[in-house]
Amino acid sequence: MQLLDGKSLSTKLKTHIKTEVDSLTSTGKRAPHLVAILIGANPASETYVAAKIKSCEEVGFQSTLYRYDASITEAELLQKINEINADSSIDGLLVQLPLPKHINETKVVETVDYRKDVDGFHPTNIGRMAKGLPCTLPATPYGILKLLEEYKIETAGKHCVVIGRSHIVGSPMSILMARNDYPGNATVTICHSKTKDLSSFTRNADIIIAAVGIPQMLKADMVKDGVVIVDVGTNRIEDATKKSGFRLVGDVDFDSVKDKCSYISPVPGGVGPMTIAALLLNTLDTYKRGE
Ligand code: NAP
Repeated sequence: MQLLDGKSLSTKLKTHIKTEVDSLTSTGKRAPHLVAILIGANPASETYVAAKIKSCEEVGFQSTLYRYDASITEAELLQKINEINADSSIDGLLVQLPLPKHINETKVVETVDYRKDVDGFHPTNIGRMAKGLPCTLPATPYGILKLLEEYKIETAGKHCVVIGRSHIVGSPMSILMARNDYPGNATVTICHSKTKDLSSFTRNADIIIAAVGIPQMLKADMVKDGVVIVDVGTNRIEDATKKSGFRLVGDVDFDSVKDKCSYISPVPGGVGPMTIAALLLNTLDTYKRGE
């Protein structure tokens, strides 16, 4: 078994990005600028946004965080997004999800200018991705592609089972794994909560991408020997031995499954850091397109 080490790959990618940013700023150009909007006090969202801002600092990006109370109205939020859209000194904008219930997520995602949509959630980017046109890829699937590429995972002709069909992970991942490119050219099965007998699919998978949100649901008897597993799940479970009172686990029962895998991504240290690296790559790209 070999680990798909997202932590070390993300460090390597950040070093490359920093070198590029240093060379841009040394010629008098401004650094890429990412803006994050955080609403409310969801602890997981706080952690994700803090990690994104810290990573911007590490690579020399400018970053701005706008924090709002959960009582912000939808109209106020949309107005702020429009202001940022119009500001040519800003290259990337992300609005951390989930949003409070009174704010329409679709409206928010569609209001972000697709050229600044570094999360890759805007319908224009999703549509262009589906057609194989140049676009900003959704950050988590993009990070997973980078991970598969780094470890030269063979994907052509393989049976890839994606568990989960969310708009941000499962669904785009299934499109990307089936596209005529590398990584891709896999035969893809997409499973979800209405799938009957999930194991009958996962047992026949050469590659499994689990994006469900159920702690350790994928067990050893559900996979075949030699499988490649990408575990997207990021679940907090109680752990009295930790200062925080919890620890992070994936959707895969890592300890029971690992010995059957040829490759497996750990949680933490797999897809999480790759999502942030992909976000930085997307921001650098939108910056370059806007030059
Ligand atoms: P989501 O929107 O809740 O989607 C979960 C998907 O899993 C849905 O499509 C759901 O099916 C499916 N599902 C639920 N129960 C199932 C079951 N028993 N068998 C098969 N499929 C089942 O979640 P998400 O946003 O995609 O996130 C999934 C996980 O990845 C979460 O743990 C999240 O925290 C994590 N995540 C991590 C990163 C990262 O950077 N590491 C990024 C994004 C998400 P239905 O469509 O039928 O409801």
